[in-house]
Amino acid sequence: MRIILIGPPGAGKGTQCQRLAGLLGVPHLSTGEMLRAAVREGTPAGVQAARYMSQGQLVPDPLIVGMVSARLQEPDCRGGCLLDGFPRTLPQAATLDDLLERRAISVDGVIELAVPRDELVRRMLARGRADDDPDIFARRIMSFEEQTAPLLDYYARQGKLASVDGLGNADEIFARVTRAIERFARRARQPEQ
Ligand code: AMP
Repeated sequence: MRIILIGPPGAGKGTQCQRLAGLLGVPHLSTGEMLRAAVREGTPAGVQAARYMSQGQLVPDPLIVGMVSARLQEPDCRGGCLLDGFPRTLPQAATLDDLLERRAISVDGVIELAVPRDELVRRMLARGRADDDPDIFARRIMSFEEQTAPLLDYYARQGKLASVDGLGNADEIFARVTRAIERFARRARQPEQ
């Protein structure tokens, strides 16, 4: 299955994706992790991305699209994947649809992890990552609201969106996420309904 997780920074996408990847036996593709690795290794893409990431801004679409399309062609993605942090803009979503369509496959379902802003700030303060400076974090939330939230409507129109309450402990949230995945799986088996 090809599943996308969408949620604001600090919603718990990474934690849920790691657990889901184990359950579904598909790779977890986190563009944030890919970019942080590129930054650590000092690759040309990493050097370019670091300027945007340190400011809480999205990196330019061409940079991220090149990275994801190469990763999606690797053999371990043949049976599906979990996308965490991509797509994050409408052009990225359209590009992903094109990439998959060329291979006669598609996104099976999109899960929104919904978490209120004050809870995100509380979690950010507890986590302390380099781009978790309060001003930068506020910018990342803003970029989510302005650039990524429109994707929820994009996928809802395609009938692919499941919104999951992201409040509670990781086990409770995981139970909600797996129920959404089961619904996607049932729909994939009965595409006419
Ligand atoms: P994340 O770990 O997913 O929150 O990503 C960390 C940072 O990487 C983001 O704040 C962006 O600067 C950058 N990033 C990750 N994924 C994308 C994407 N799909 N498009 C643009 N920038 C991204």
